[in-house]
Amino acid sequence: MPRPPPRHDDPESFAQVFLNSYDPLGEPVDRLADGSAVRAFLPGWLALPRDSDWAALAADLRPWRDGLRKAVRAAAEGRPAALDRLLRRELAGLAFQARPGAAGLVFRPDPAQSPAALVKALALQGLAAELAAAGPQRLRLCQAPPCEELFFDRSKRGAQHFCGKRCANRVHVARFRERHRRT
Ligand SMILES: [Zn+2]
Repeated sequence: MPRPPPRHDDPESFAQVFLNSYDPLGEPVDRLADGSAVRAFLPGWLALPRDSDWAALAADLRPWRDGLRKAVRAAAEGRPAALDRLLRRELAGLAFQARPGAAGLVFRPDPAQSPAALVKALALQGLAAELAAAGPQRLRLCQAPPCEELFFDRSKRGAQHFCGKRCANRVHVARFRERHRRT
């Protein structure tokens, strides 16, 4: 999946990037690895106080993201119950504000909550929107290890195996070499 460039007020793109902030093929591999990684990653997506305790934020968000990845991965493998439970449990503790928009009320994370809660609220809002639009049956785990990208299959037939060109090319080159070794 091509990484959307960071911009404020885009919960869906943020959910995708946050969910895949751990990426064995990425540079860096973990965008939540420590305080300086988090500081380089998050402010492009949402407004956080400059004097935030970035190391504490990294320590809070990293295991939370891992739990979310685990639940999304289970859903991609046909077991959506854990993700459903996680969404209900976590959303109960997060705050959103509403403002009028062209198509009704627009909800956004309440900026008065802690930076960690703000990040979680934005990620879950984006994920819930994607789940509503595409359906949990369109969740996928990239089939080109060591890639572990989680994504929504937007193809017409719903038969997308790889997260994007990066991995599709890698697999096709490997298969091509394999064929030529045999002949
Ligand atoms: Zn991939």
